[in-house]
Amino acid sequence: RGNAEKFEFQAEVSRLMDIIINSLYSNKDIFLRELISNASDALDKIRFLSLTDKEVLGEGDNTKLEIEIKLDKEKKFLSIRDRGIGMKKEDLIKNLGTIAKSGTSAFVEKMQTSGDLNLIGQFGVGFYSVYLVADYVEVISKHNDDKQYVWESKADGAFAISEDTWNEPLGRGTEIRLHLRDEAGEYLEQSKLKDLVKKYSEFINFPIYLWASNEVDVEVPTDEDESSDEEEAATSEEESESEKSEGDEDKEEKPKTKTVKETKYEWELLNDVKAIWLRNPKEVTEEEYAKFYKALAKDFSDEKPMAWSHFNAEGDVEFKAVLFVPPKAPHDLYESYYNNNKSNLKLYVRRVFISDEFDELLPKYLSFLKGLVDSDTLPLNVSREMLQQHSSLKTIKKKLIRKALDMIRKIADEDPDESNNDSKDVDESSDNEKKGQYTKFWNEFGKSIKLGIIEDATNRNRLAKLLRFESTKSDGKLTSMDQYISRMKSGQKDIFYITGPTKEQLEKSPFLERLKKKGYEVIFFTDPVDEYLMQYLMDYEDKKFQNVSKEGLKIKDSKGKELKESFKELTKWWKGALSGVDNIDDVKISNRLDNTPCVVVTSKYGWSANMERIMQSQTL
Ligand code: ADP
Ligand code: MG
Repeated sequence: RGNAEKFEFQAEVSRLMDIIINSLYSNKDIFLRELISNASDALDKIRFLSLTDKEVLGEGDNTKLEIEIKLDKEKKFLSIRDRGIGMKKEDLIKNLGTIAKSGTSAFVEKMQTSGDLNLIGQFGVGFYSVYLVADYVEVISKHNDDKQYVWESKADGAFAISEDTWNEPLGRGTEIRLHLRDEAGEYLEQSKLKDLVKKYSEFINFPIYLWASNEVDVEVPTDEDESSDEEEAATSEEESESEKSEGDEDKEEKPKTKTVKETKYEWELLNDVKAIWLRNPKEVTEEEYAKFYKALAKDFSDEKPMAWSHFNAEGDVEFKAVLFVPPKAPHDLYESYYNNNKSNLKLYVRRVFISDEFDELLPKYLSFLKGLVDSDTLPLNVSREMLQQHSSLKTIKKKLIRKALDMIRKIADEDPDESNNDSKDVDESSDNEKKGQYTKFWNEFGKSIKLGIIEDATNRNRLAKLLRFESTKSDGKLTSMDQYISRMKSGQKDIFYITGPTKEQLEKSPFLERLKKKGYEVIFFTDPVDEYLMQYLMDYEDKKFQNVSKEGLKIKDSKGKELKESFKELTKWWKGALSGVDNIDDVKISNRLDNTPCVVVTSKYGWSANMERIMQSQTL
């Protein structure tokens, strides 16, 4: 085409497209849900803008916030269009030619090695999945502030953009035209498309229509040649045409007729737009929640969410919310922890999608949760910035945290593996599904709970209840603070713990000799974050924490005084002998040893040896 401008894809995009094209990945279906999801995002965006500026919607068909699918069997061509926000020329270049996200190469790598394209939507490159089924794709787009353009590519490393002077004006929005590969013929079957929309796009909040053909019986006159011609012509016309000819029949005296099959086209609605969060939680099935989670989180793996909480907050601030604990932590959850401000909750106000980048809704440590909040209290017609400062958000956040922690506690409460202090009744029937769930949760997200203890002073105790660890008495399993306390010896005041790189190393520690022998339980903390954790977790249920490698360890010992007395001279001599050595404060008789003659102990407020190790490995 004369006015086409040529561009090259960013190298990573090119590589990704190669992977997709040559992929043996069998689930090619995913392209449709990605396109519908993009159309839905674009509709969300224009609807959001229209809250503060009605003009942006325009008039007539332009105001229809819906998604339309059309197919053409002869031309092997499938199109998905929306009347969303559309793309300007520069958007087309940027959005459909580059990947803005950091860590792009790493993830392209991952796609290549894992071969699992199911995750493509989570990585923010869903659009390119069109090349699973098409060898040539056109994107026609019209944004309010620009002309209509066509983006096109055969996935050969380059794309072209032209001002659109030949297609029908879209008004506003985007149409994606897929020229399907020969082997992708199944996507030209209406039934296939209907199934896919049902399966993957059930929770899209805009109506999805298919330009569907149906075989219908019609009565046609038998005698007159010309009228049957007319009927044939009408078959490819819209419904309104055939209605007109029906009306005409009234005037005529019964002509001879016969019944023929006729193909009638009409827009068929494929989804019922239902907001699951507006329904009564008692009436929503587990299956429905699981499906809703998939759509919301773009997580189309086979695993179900570990838990969910659907509730209705009333009072000063009214909102409905659904929270999910995903089955797995995202690959980069802790990588970009302190730089990443993204919460994974979607915010709606009165069913209108506002944003999924509101970090005011949940604290960082809970950013692994997925979900949605829909508030009736927040104002609709203000800018995002003003909304971010709205006083109700604080109340919403507080309630969300509370509900989130309840939901996590429930995973433990319902897990039969967790109830080894046999205080709980566990429903037999749900045993299998819930068994081991909390360990699974802990392995995926335990670090978040620890970060929560560090960050969230208000909920520290609640979070401490969710902690799990191994100890000298946990027998290789995980145990909790409450379980530790239930096993404390009479007269034991403090909770004992020790920190180090591995459990194996700690088990051999001389610091434990005596404590073990006397039957005291000691917690093993082996994660580097544990050192920080214990700087914030001072006590639990009125009991102080004591690092057994630090000064201040108190255990009952009848011979303590006696020993102190009889070794007085030795202690004095030793102290003198070490007086020139840096970092030695004192020499004392210890009651923590059994076989080992002596140990070096850290002062109460100093770094533990393990902390020294961690700090050194960080600075090197
Ligand atoms: P993601 O949707 O996660 O951002 P995609 O690869 O699916 O990633 O889409 C890339 C970008 O292309 C989108 O972020 C959006 O800006 C743009 N885009 C895709 N489809 C449409 C559409 N139908 N209307 C407007 N913009 C779109
Ligand atoms: Mg997308």
